Amino acid sequence: AKSLGRNNYQIYEISAEQAQQQNMALKSGLRHAEHNGELRVFYQPQVDAASEDIVGMEALVRWEHPELGFIGPGFFIPLAEETGLIVSIGEWVLRTACKQAQEWERKFGLRLRLGVNLSAVQLMQPNLLDIVSSALQDSGLDPGLLEMEVTESISIKAAPNLVENLHGLHKLGCRIAIDDFGTGAASLDYLRKLPADRIKIDQSFVRNIGVDPDDEAIVRATIEMAHRLKRGVVAEGVEIEQHLHFLRANRCDELQGYLFCRPLPPPAFEKLLHERQRL
Ligand code: C2E
Ligand code: CA
Ligand code: CA
Ligand code: CA
Repeated sequence: AKSLGRNNYQIYEISAEQAQQQNMALKSGLRHAEHNGELRVFYQPQVDAASEDIVGMEALVRWEHPELGFIGPGFFIPLAEETGLIVSIGEWVLRTACKQAQEWERKFGLRLRLGVNLSAVQLMQPNLLDIVSSALQDSGLDPGLLEMEVTESISIKAAPNLVENLHGLHKLGCRIAIDDFGTGAASLDYLRKLPADRIKIDQSFVRNIGVDPDDEAIVRATIEMAHRLKRGVVAEGVEIEQHLHFLRANRCDELQGYLFCRPLPPPAFEKLLHERQRL
C-alpha cells in the first residue's frame, strides 16, 4: 500500500509497473501544478518551550491535485527533485511564505520567525542568493526572520556551492537550521563546517522519549551540545505531554508538533494568531 500522505487519497496494493505509471502521471501533473495554482503552503507553529508562546512557523508545501486531493510533500518533493521542478517550486514556496510572514507581521505586530525548507538541488544552485534576496526584497520581510532549513542528508563534499551558499545566506542576514539532526551520516561535520544557528532534533528521536532510554540520552546530549556551541535547538514531532515535559526539563528552546498544532492553511493559522493575541 502506498500512501500519499495523511488524510490523503490512498492507493492500495498496486504493482511496481502501476506504481511507475502513476509516478509518470504525477510527474507530468506536477509540471503544471505551480502554473495551475494547485500548490499550497501550510504553516505549523513553533512554540517557546517554557511559555508555549508561538515564536515561529515552518512553511510546508502541499499539492492540491484536481482528482487525487491533497498530496503530501513526502511523496511529491522527491519527484520534484528528480525532474528538477524543485527549483521553481522551491522558489514559489519561498516567495509565497515570505509575503505571508510579512503580512502577518504587519497585521499582528508579531515578529514570527519563518522556517523554509531548502532541497539539496536548490542549495547547489549558483543563483540561490539572488533568488533569496529578491524574495526578501519583494516581500519586505526582515532577513533575520527567515530561517533556511537544510537537511544533513546531503554530503558536503558532493554538493558544489553548498558551503558558499550557506555562508552567503548568513551574510544576507538569514538564519540557518540543520533539519532532521542526528539522522544523517554527517551531523557533527555539518555542525563544524556550516554556519548553523539552530539544530532541529529529528522526530524519530522525540517519538522515543519515554520508550527508548538510548534515544532519550541522544536527545539530552544534542540539546546540551547545541547550547555549548551557542546554537539554538528545536524539537520536532512533539506529540504528547510526556515529550513536552522531558524536552522542557532538558531545556530544549522551542517545540513543534501535533501536541500544539498541525500544519494549517493560512486562514486557520491567522485565526490561531487572533485567538492567541486576545489572551
Ligand atoms: P520536515 O522538514 O522534517 O517537516 C516536518 C514534517 O513533520 C512535516 O511533514 C510535518 O507536517 C510533520 N509533523 C509535524 N509535527 C508532527 C508530529 O507531531 N508528528 C508527526 N508524526 N509529524 C509531524 P510534511 O508537511 O508531510 O512534510 C514532509 C517533508 O517534506 C518535510 O519534512 C520536508 O523534508 C519536505 N518538505 C515540505 N515542504 C517542503 C518545501 O517547501 N520544500 C522542500 N524542499 N521540502 C519540503
Ligand atoms: Ca523542515
Ligand atoms: Ca525535520
Ligand atoms: Ca524530514
